[in-house]
Amino acid sequence: MKTKLIFITGGVVSSLGKGIAAASIGAILESRGLKLTIVKLDPYINVDPGTMSPFQHGEVFVTDDGYEADLDLGHYERYTNIVTSSHHNFTTGQIYDTVIQKERRGEYLGKTVQVIPHITNQIKENIYNAAEGNDVAIIEIGGTVGDIESLPFLEAIRQVGHEMKGNQVLFIHMTLVPFIAAAEELKTKPTQHSVTKLREIGIQPDILLCRTDRDLSTELRKKIALFTNVAHDAVIQAKDVDCVYEVPIRFHDEGLDGKIVELLQLWTKRSNLQKWADIVYSFKNPKDVVNIGVAGKYVNLRDSYKSLHEALEHAGIALNLKVNIVYIDSEQIESDSDAMAWNHCDGILIPGGFGERGIEGKIKMVKYAREQKVPYFGICLGLQMAVIEYARNIVGMKNANTTEADQNTSENVIDLMNEQKNVTDMGATMRLGAYPAKFIPDTKIAGIYGSTEISERHRHRYEVNNKFVPELEKAGLVFSGKNVKLDLVETVEIKDHPWFIGVQYHPEFKSKPLDVHPLFYRFVEASYAYKQSKPAK
Ligand code: GLN
Repeated sequence: MKTKLIFITGGVVSSLGKGIAAASIGAILESRGLKLTIVKLDPYINVDPGTMSPFQHGEVFVTDDGYEADLDLGHYERYTNIVTSSHHNFTTGQIYDTVIQKERRGEYLGKTVQVIPHITNQIKENIYNAAEGNDVAIIEIGGTVGDIESLPFLEAIRQVGHEMKGNQVLFIHMTLVPFIAAAEELKTKPTQHSVTKLREIGIQPDILLCRTDRDLSTELRKKIALFTNVAHDAVIQAKDVDCVYEVPIRFHDEGLDGKIVELLQLWTKRSNLQKWADIVYSFKNPKDVVNIGVAGKYVNLRDSYKSLHEALEHAGIALNLKVNIVYIDSEQIESDSDAMAWNHCDGILIPGGFGERGIEGKIKMVKYAREQKVPYFGICLGLQMAVIEYARNIVGMKNANTTEADQNTSENVIDLMNEQKNVTDMGATMRLGAYPAKFIPDTKIAGIYGSTEISERHRHRYEVNNKFVPELEKAGLVFSGKNVKLDLVETVEIKDHPWFIGVQYHPEFKSKPLDVHPLFYRFVEASYAYKQSKPAK
């Protein structure tokens, strides 16, 4: 295989930002003209990340091919041109599943099936398959060195290093260099221990990425180098940044990409990160603020709505505005209408969500946005709430609901499709991945996309019930987009409203800082226009 491999491991603590580091390295190497891919290996037993709680694990990212992935794949797509798929993420659970199925089919010819070589061989096979056809493959290993569960992955990549040798493989290890206030000192010991742990397993890192909140002196870098057997110019600081899109620039300034191409002996053009610099400048120098109220059950959990946050931020960057996201607890709104913090929002967004909790509060928020002509953006569940609100308050269907909240309602304007009614497995059984939608020409949404045929990613079970469409349409709700083949509603809008759009899909998964999604751009733009039209307080 000609592809060069860069493995990224993490030590000391979790949440060091390995995913963003991997994506940022991808961005710099792409700007040097290299063709690359990024893969995430997750050491947990779950067969797919789709069934994991966003509370515990952050957002479930959805790929075009309908794979429910770890949120790091979202970072990879936002920083690079990679279109991720199920080949870009695999878990211990999947590896074991494959090996056990092979064993059941007799493929191991009766041998004892063991972690080494069978599990490790399967890991290597998956890595090689994903890497093939690229100049470089970056492989991020989830978890922290020292965890029992990541051992088979580390053993497999050690073997890769042994088999490929030469300038084919690079090991980057990310650690923490904490500042201890009492001693008024940055401490290198955790890094030393973490590298020792890695070397016990047989992996000598080539480059260290040291996460820190302040600059590392040359002296300190030399100390780390000496204790870890890493060249001192390969001890790279990864200092905290205000804007995550600054990371590629900082890494480049630290000489990281230079070191990578030197060690891998890659001949490339120079990197050009000007576009990233422009983004960071706009982010740091906004001309004004716009307040977007986001309803959700997972209040205060940034990671549960990672892509949504980023997409709103991309729009803010493009419009040179600071998007201030105000999370609104819809359950609180249900019981206490006075707690309508959202009154002060310039735009209201109801994102995807599951279960019946908070539904009534969300419907109240839609009513407010519709009546007060506040820009409204409904995503997935947000579209469903908009349809229910319209049915209840305009058409007069008092019991209109989703069967997700009320199984027995006769006015089931949102309901399960037939094929969903027999589903018993929770994993990978929703309407998932990219589906096309066709817009009615001259609708607002067709104008926003500048096209009548699009493709977006889905992740849901419930749909608008076609039985009620004619009645709702007659009352003025515009069903602007459809999946023609499946005869399903994809988008809705209201005419005499400055900006009221619901989409059954998740546009946030496809927004990038260098290519902001038009729906987010237009929504934030409309929200800012609304803000400016309000009388000053
Ligand atoms: N719970 C709703 C459904 O399953 C909406 C899902 C979502 O918002 N992603 O259809």
